[in-house]
Amino acid sequence: MIGYEKILDELQRRSALHPENAETLALYGDLLAAQARVSVLPREYAAIAQIAPTRIERGLPVLPPEAFRADCAALAQLCDETCVITARHRADLRDALDALRAWLAQEHNSILAFAAEYLRDEGLGKAREIGLDTPLLGFVLNHALHPFLRTYAQVVGPFVDLSIWFRAQCPVCGGAPDFAALAKDTGARTLLCARCDFEWSFWRGACPFCECDDPDQQKYFASDDEVYRLYTCEKCGRYIKTIDLRQVADERILPVERILTIPLDLAARQVCAAASQPAS
Ligand SMILES: [Zn+2]
Ligand SMILES: [Zn+2]
Repeated sequence: MIGYEKILDELQRRSALHPENAETLALYGDLLAAQARVSVLPREYAAIAQIAPTRIERGLPVLPPEAFRADCAALAQLCDETCVITARHRADLRDALDALRAWLAQEHNSILAFAAEYLRDEGLGKAREIGLDTPLLGFVLNHALHPFLRTYAQVVGPFVDLSIWFRAQCPVCGGAPDFAALAKDTGARTLLCARCDFEWSFWRGACPFCECDDPDQQKYFASDDEVYRLYTCEKCGRYIKTIDLRQVADERILPVERILTIPLDLAARQVCAAASQPAS
């Protein structure tokens, strides 16, 4: 697991080459810096490594959502900081973020329950019921949970037998990927977990969300320089950004690449929206 220090250095170095995206890159740089300041001790999560081999053999991610643990005060603090940082860079989201901050402060005793709900992908119903912006709450939780889940991945990773796990789900936390890479030598596909940054292998011809392997439903588009690809699935309407490492000479860090390619997300959403329109 690559440390925050290296990720931040690389992001800063590469951001200088993309002044057109300076504001977005500054937001993510600040969010990562806040995560890096949280101290999570790997030994606190050592016990879960014992159940890793059995869970993986049974086809289950190692971390059951209800087993997630974190220092509640540190997690609540990082949720709040994530809201403050995002509001600083995104004035358009300030009101929605203020509402989330107030609610999270009031509900701070339930922070682990919200984390488990987020990890179960259950849609954060309690927040939705009172009219909060749940995709934005998901964004906040994703960033606030990151240093804790990354530590789980760091501790559990060595006990995950990747030769028997070819699923769309992350073997550590059960999350979905949000970035992929094609290996320099073989072109084999590695997925990056959106929640815990764990990396695992998955078939290149199948959708990394719904696992559909019908070649007619799986398409990809390459950037002009062929470094980046966008894989889309017509069955589930989702996409994955991908870097083709055969096209680059230097080393790349996937958690940095996911941020540098944020402009690709906009293009991807347009492609997927167009694909879901009925043919006229
Ligand atoms: Zn994960
Ligand atoms: Zn799919």
